[in-house]
Amino acid sequence: MLLITNGQLITPDGVVEADLAIDGQEIAAIGRGLTGERVIDAAGCYVLPGGVDPHVHLQMPLAGRVSTDTFLSGSIAAAHGGTTTFIDFVTPEPEQSMLDALHARQAEADGETVIDYGLHMTIPTWHGAEETRLKETTAAVAAGCATFKLYQAYTGMVLDDPSLLRAFQAIARAGGLAVLHSETGPVLELLRSQALAAGYTAPIWHERTRPARLEATAIHRAAELADLAQCPLHIFHVGCAEAVAEITRAQAAGIDISGESCPQYLLLTAEEHLAGPDGALFICAPPLRNVSDHVPLWRGLANGALAMVSTDHCPWTRAEKDQPDFSLVPGGVPGIETRLSLIYHHGVRTGLISPSRWVEICCTEPARRMGLSRKGRLAPGYDADVVIFDPTRRRTLSVNTLHELCDWTPYAGMTLTGWPRTVLQRGRLLVEEEEFVGAPGDGTFIKRAF
Ligand code: MN
Repeated sequence: MLLITNGQLITPDGVVEADLAIDGQEIAAIGRGLTGERVIDAAGCYVLPGGVDPHVHLQMPLAGRVSTDTFLSGSIAAAHGGTTTFIDFVTPEPEQSMLDALHARQAEADGETVIDYGLHMTIPTWHGAEETRLKETTAAVAAGCATFKLYQAYTGMVLDDPSLLRAFQAIARAGGLAVLHSETGPVLELLRSQALAAGYTAPIWHERTRPARLEATAIHRAAELADLAQCPLHIFHVGCAEAVAEITRAQAAGIDISGESCPQYLLLTAEEHLAGPDGALFICAPPLRNVSDHVPLWRGLANGALAMVSTDHCPWTRAEKDQPDFSLVPGGVPGIETRLSLIYHHGVRTGLISPSRWVEICCTEPARRMGLSRKGRLAPGYDADVVIFDPTRRRTLSVNTLHELCDWTPYAGMTLTGWPRTVLQRGRLLVEEEEFVGAPGDGTFIKRAF
């Protein structure tokens, strides 16, 4: 038995000063006066369940490039930041079955990732229009891939409304959850080509050609179609007040819809695009918005309109981001390592959210909503994924100290108070006093179900 003593445990029943006992891979007991052969002293620290990041893109192929972090480097960075489970993506080729694509993607991650992982199954345009393809959702769910990524944007990915409804129906029949990139894509493509034709190529035009209200419009349509199909729906990367309002409206109408935001939307703005030569680095979709969006997003996380925080970690190097116009810049920002600490520093320390809510939105809710039944809680019987988080440890963020491979970080120079000291995964030390002590392949594919 391994004991973690003297910590402030953040449990579903609140914050309690107690010991945590681990037997093998599981949490065995929480209480006082427990005994064990090995003891880790967590005095002065929070003890919380391992972070669950429901949305990352490691070694993702895109138009001849591959996103900067591999399954190995990205998962090591995640572990240092207190995340012990991530969910990445698999995208079937036009002639490939969902199961073949799933197994191929698992083969890339297995033996590499140091933390546990799941995969979302993408339903691209070529699958979304075909009933026979959509029937494969049942086999995907049986293989532990119970969430399906749909897009309302991007050529080749965008599903028109009839295809979206068909996909929702198929996912509902299979017992899955739809996760959605929600923007009014075809209209954005038109606005973009009009801007380029008029000579507007600077990075700020990325934001100006993706109006926030068209994000909300897309969520509105998707929510109605998902409800028609009785398919549970999760909205990815919510970044503006209009989107929060639309999700709140749908929830009030009884629609089974959840949302997530990401640190970049909670902390940064489109002003970053105006910051000289680095302006293009911050291109991601949906785009960064305004400082006036920050309070509604934080309030949404506090009151439950938004259920969780993901990173949408999708790193590209400075050289890859350096393009002749904004439309050619690969979208995405890094952040897999900094999520827990950014939300602690900017959310908990400022009083916007409680320590318990911090754990709910970074650990418990992403696990529950995404079908990870053994993750995200400090409770007997759950996987012993545990983070010892020192709320006084200060870190100034820099590419030199982060373990992400990317040669830039959106948070360079930001000083955070609160950083993970020690991280365990299924009872084994993964990070000990900020030193990585795990090995490639320590992580395993986790079957998810509802
Ligand atoms: Mn994404």
